[in-house]
Amino acid sequence: MEHDHSSFGLSRRQFMTAAGVGTILGAGALIAPPRAAAAGLTLPRLPYAPGALAPYISARTISFHYGKHHAAYVRKTDRMARAMGLSRKSLPELVKLAARDPKKKALFNNASQAWNHAFYWQSMTPGGGGAPRGKLAQKVKADFGSFGSFKKAFAAAAAGQFGSGWAWLVLDGGKLKVTATANAGSPLVTGQRPLLTIDVWEHAYYLDYQNRRGDYIKAFLAHLVNWDFAARNLG
Ligand code: FE
Repeated sequence: MEHDHSSFGLSRRQFMTAAGVGTILGAGALIAPPRAAAAGLTLPRLPYAPGALAPYISARTISFHYGKHHAAYVRKTDRMARAMGLSRKSLPELVKLAARDPKKKALFNNASQAWNHAFYWQSMTPGGGGAPRGKLAQKVKADFGSFGSFKKAFAAAAAGQFGSGWAWLVLDGGKLKVTATANAGSPLVTGQRPLLTIDVWEHAYYLDYQNRRGDYIKAFLAHLVNWDFAARNLG
């Protein structure tokens, strides 16, 4: 299968389910849902138990962030996509087409937030942190000078994003870069391939860290970041 960075390391089956574009029955039998009962977008499963990232991110934060915020983005995207006759589109397709149409700003905000959050949950893992290995480690060294320089750049982008948004490690024209996007912004619409993200909306850290965004970023890098996921996205 052609590598599709939009599927962010989910298996094809998981991605198809998450994107609501088809249902797989048994081994490899792909069928499209009947038109009258389109599967719709569904909230992807959290890849670990809600308390698995504690003490760095509490089960209470996850219960609101995943169970309320992320769920609402998915629900609103699904409702809007159906109303616009776009319920057959995958989530990345919705993000990209809405980004091109100023009249679809609300759809973009919700679809992109739905995609970003699914990518964010995958960007963390219990017992994560540390340093990348293998090809990704070499690429980080080549493009940032050192792993320490990458961490500084990533933490600065995450801390420096004014208001709500996201910091990213992306592949851009063959080079790794650190970027930040405001609100629901997404590298999917700028032709960059996301490898990793951190959510710096206050709802991501306020219950655990209050206003100390820097401490949340430090904990993310030291204890949570899923380098295997980033390596899979590098391909
Ligand atoms: Fe969030």
